[in-house]
Amino acid sequence: MSDAHVPPPLSPFGAYPNPLDLTEEDQKLFHPVVLFPSSYEILDLTKPVANRQLATEDERKTRTSPDRPPAPPFAVGRYDEDRVGLYSSELFNDLENNIDGYQGRRTIHVGIDLEGPVGTPVYSLTNGTIHAVGYNAALGDYGHVMVICHDLPKNRQVYALYGHLSADSIERREVGQHVVAGERIGSIGDFFENGGWFFPHVHFQLAIKAPDTHDMPGAVSLNDRAMALVDYPDPRYVLGPLY
Ligand SMILES: [Zn+2]
Repeated sequence: MSDAHVPPPLSPFGAYPNPLDLTEEDQKLFHPVVLFPSSYEILDLTKPVANRQLATEDERKTRTSPDRPPAPPFAVGRYDEDRVGLYSSELFNDLENNIDGYQGRRTIHVGIDLEGPVGTPVYSLTNGTIHAVGYNAALGDYGHVMVICHDLPKNRQVYALYGHLSADSIERREVGQHVVAGERIGSIGDFFENGGWFFPHVHFQLAIKAPDTHDMPGAVSLNDRAMALVDYPDPRYVLGPLY
């Protein structure tokens, strides 16, 4: 893909590559992943954020954080956003941390974050089969996470990662289990179970190729951006024009 076909950062709905050719007709299949109120915030994480985002290991262990910043209302964290001020953790800067061929200083977010209170239900986008499920324990990682291979019309499939879930979301989940559209697959986790993030949210990401395990690079380097916008399509093609 030549750079001429790469849309500028934070392009509007419909401007990104659509490798699965998802149409408005397909849209009818999809259940919201989180039921949002009619009004919600659109986050801007391109600049350094004032509040502490990640818990310490000790806070995770004790499940207490005396100076935890207040939980925000429902909000959306954007796709293709360069989060230079947010991803300071080693996880995002480790040059040897190679996920499905992606590495480097990873600051460009290639999923969409759906923020809501701890315990908010998370629903399956459409019918599918659990491809991978587990716990990514590193600070700043996904915590409890599930990847579902969703069936689409015309023999297409898409892999969807649901990250930062509560521990009980994955308790009775196994690879190969079927899920149906709109099934409650879990809930938004708290900081001690979601990878240490103070702002509870589900990271939702699409992939056109099967990930090796219950992981996808939630952020990629600028060098890998053009490739990532195809490998990990804009989730608004299934979530609708959230912003
Ligand atoms: Zn995210």
